[in-house]
Amino acid sequence: MKLILLGAPGAGKGTQGIIISDKYSIPIISTGDMLRAAIREGTELGLHAKSLIDKGALVPDAVIMAMLKERLQKSDCSNGFILDGVPRTINQAEALAEITEIDKVLEIHVPDEFIIDRITNRIVCPKCGASYNAVSKRPREEGICDRCGSKLEARADDNKETLLERLSVYHKMTEPLKDFYADQGKLVVIDGTESVDDVTVKVLETLRG
Ligand code: ADP
Repeated sequence: MKLILLGAPGAGKGTQGIIISDKYSIPIISTGDMLRAAIREGTELGLHAKSLIDKGALVPDAVIMAMLKERLQKSDCSNGFILDGVPRTINQAEALAEITEIDKVLEIHVPDEFIIDRITNRIVCPKCGASYNAVSKRPREEGICDRCGSKLEARADDNKETLLERLSVYHKMTEPLKDFYADQGKLVVIDGTESVDDVTVKVLETLRG
């Protein structure tokens, strides 16, 4: 299965993505996680990306697509994959269509007013991508990832000012992908405002159907 997860920042793509990844044994590919890894490693790409990410802007399409193309060639993608955070522009979606054919696009829909609390209280695992919420979804042990035991941290771009810019970029640049994929009969929209478990039930139903 080749799946795209669409949705605003904080909609729950990463949370549901991990569940789908475990269930279907296919990797979750997050360009945001890949860029943050490059920043931590201090590569040239990381240095270039950091200034854009910190202000909530997009990294150029050509950079993203080169990174994604290389990732999709790895052997763990041979039975499918889940894309989280990519494509993010029509340009990227068109470039992706040249590389591979996507089966389904799942939008986890959450209105902006729900997002602010979710994101400003978010803490994430830099190693496995799991995310927690300091108020509503605390890890079992303070500051430690339940899944892999790594130290949790807040993302530099999870502050209110950057978030508002990310939301605006999402509406302008990424939301048009809904029509792009609806026209191909691939889009399914799920209400992401319910509990994680309730959303998971719907996600798995949609993938079975
Ligand atoms: P979010 O939680 O907002 O969905 P991500 O972790 O997916 O964020 O990405 C964080 C940042 O990395 C984005 O705001 C953007 O600057 C950059 N980025 C990630 N994926 C892409 C992409 N496909 N195209 C352009 N920029 C990207």
